[in-house]
Amino acid sequence: MTYIGRFAPSPTGVLHAGSLVAALASFLDARVHGGRWLLRIEDVDEARTVPGSAQDIMQTLQLLGMQWDGEVVWQSQRKALYQQACERLGDHVFACACSRREIADSHTGLASDGAPIYPGTCRHGLPAGRAPRALRLRVPPTGDPAACIRFHDRWVGEVSQDLSTAVGDFVLRRADGYWSYQLAVVVDDAAQGVTHVVRGADLLDSTPRQIFLQQLLGLTTPSYLHVPAVTNARGEKLSKQTGAVAIDLGDTLQPLQRAAAFLGMATDEAASAAQFWRLAAQEWERRLRQREQGQ
Ligand code: GLU
Repeated sequence: MTYIGRFAPSPTGVLHAGSLVAALASFLDARVHGGRWLLRIEDVDEARTVPGSAQDIMQTLQLLGMQWDGEVVWQSQRKALYQQACERLGDHVFACACSRREIADSHTGLASDGAPIYPGTCRHGLPAGRAPRALRLRVPPTGDPAACIRFHDRWVGEVSQDLSTAVGDFVLRRADGYWSYQLAVVVDDAAQGVTHVVRGADLLDSTPRQIFLQQLLGLTTPSYLHVPAVTNARGEKLSKQTGAVAIDLGDTLQPLQRAAAFLGMATDEAASAAQFWRLAAQEWERRLRQREQGQ
């Protein structure tokens, strides 16, 4: 089997305990399948990019023994590809004049990621006198089978989401001109030939949007595995905003063992990096078998 996996961090801060769990899971999955493991720096949202953090993340991965295969891909250099994909979507895309406030004021409810669900204001044309701000993708109405996306997640099991009720017409190009994460990730996973996506469960909600885009663009849907996301004491996903700190690299074994333990893998016996990687590969396979058996 050809296996191409990837780790795709956003360079918005340091590699912390949460991103390490996603990196470790995708790295191990690629290694136990004899596959390639690519690194893509997701700096598509240039407004949030923190200078130096991509280099910091890369250095941390290397220090921990997670060396990627091939050249690093930077999303900020791939805007032409996102533009082409958007053009290929043709009539599925519409210009939207709504501000965040206007969408929030329409009280259509909140999507699972906390963003207000788009009320459909501009989907049949811009209201008179309004200028376009963002580009959105038209999602089929509730009840239309095309709106209901189902997939099998290798960790979580069966997942289904009605795009219309869960998210509504979603943004492809933002009002500030940046391409959205959803479009960029779909274009890049396909362009890099990614066959297996392994990432944190905070992105589980995004996967149906990505599968829908793949269907419209005629792209192959990769296999997905979402590992549990690490949260802080308040149950918030770890990020710079919620107080995540850089991994202490004084002892490189300990952060790896902690990340492995979070995923239910017993690697405490390992006394060296080589032993850790051997044990971790065995443990990853054991955890996957358990998940398949629904435990
Ligand atoms: N760039 C995303 C993040 O850092 C991950 C994207 C992905 O794995 O699909 O949260």
